[in-house]
Amino acid sequence: MKKNLGKLLSNLCCSQCKSEFDENSIEIKREEDGLIVTQLKCQHCGKNFGIAFLGFSEIEIKEPLKVKQGPAPISYDDVIDAHRFIKNLDKNWQDYLP
Ligand SMILES: [Zn+2]
Repeated sequence: MKKNLGKLLSNLCCSQCKSEFDENSIEIKREEDGLIVTQLKCQHCGKNFGIAFLGFSEIEIKEPLKVKQGPAPISYDDVIDAHRFIKNLDKNWQDYLP
């Protein structure tokens, strides 16, 4: 899992010291079925890039992650709930469209 995350960051670097990120820059805070909550931190200068929420159906990463700076304004539980909600839409999702 962590190796895949490292791949996700392979073309990103720290905005402060320009060190490249790797799998060691990511700490997994919480792992659920199809969703992981990670914290991104530069191993070189220690700059904290905040929390990233990643959803996976399969562990295969094609698109590199875009990192936004600043603290995450929502809690882990909010995201987990949203994730469950979206998951439950599956069959009747069209009912939710206007
Ligand atoms: Zn750095």
